[in-house]
Amino acid sequence: MSSKFYITTPIFYANAKLHIGHSYTLVLADIVARYHRAQGEETFFLTGADEHGDKILRTAQAAGMSPQAFVDQNVAEFKELMVALEISNDFFVRTSDSVNHWPGALALWQGLVAAGDVRKGIYQGLYCVGCEAFITEKDLVDGKCALHNTLPEHIEEENYFFSLAKYGPELKRLIETGTLKITPASKAHEMLALIATSGKDGGLGDISISRPEREIPWGIPVPEDPSQLMYVWCDALSNYLSALGYGRADDEKFRTFASMGTI
Ligand SMILES: [Zn+2]
Repeated sequence: MSSKFYITTPIFYANAKLHIGHSYTLVLADIVARYHRAQGEETFFLTGADEHGDKILRTAQAAGMSPQAFVDQNVAEFKELMVALEISNDFFVRTSDSVNHWPGALALWQGLVAAGDVRKGIYQGLYCVGCEAFITEKDLVDGKCALHNTLPEHIEEENYFFSLAKYGPELKRLIETGTLKITPASKAHEMLALIATSGKDGGLGDISISRPEREIPWGIPVPEDPSQLMYVWCDALSNYLSALGYGRADDEKFRTFASMGTI
């Protein structure tokens, strides 16, 4: 058994009031973290808030607040809930935290650039603000987003793209050999089916990883191109690394947990 254990909730999107799902996720993760601590394992339990994106900017504007004041208010409520539930997390990561989180997001971006996996291109598509994502014709019912019943916006913009499809064979190998464990097995099969259709519509393709700053002036600037901000992939998902110190000088915890081989 490993003497180290890292558990994280998904980080919560700070655009709305709390609901039972937040409590459910926190309590489940708390039970598992406490169990592993009781076994004497070096345990790190993370939770936090995903605070960028146009949905937050627009909700803040509608409330007559700056985006930072708006997320600060919602995060204060998250933290009140965690005190009430006696959640034993070791850290609370915030994606608007330029001291603790941004260095990790920047390091991830620079790593992708160094690997030759980032290129600039034109993105054209339908964008749903509710989904906070580009959607396709097949996601529409009567021309509206099936999930939000709202008309998508037609967007054509310059973005940076990440060459995700290139990693299909390696991801396939990691999943098939069990190096990358996905449970339940049905989800692993779903991922393998997605990889098998790489390069075709619906399969793995190059993904857009930035947005023009003028469209959404709220996020982490792309290194050496402040006209663009990082999109969720580098901006928010890097939190699971940055919370351990990835990209910072004080990265001992990251080094400790990275040696588990599962990060
Ligand atoms: Zn939608």
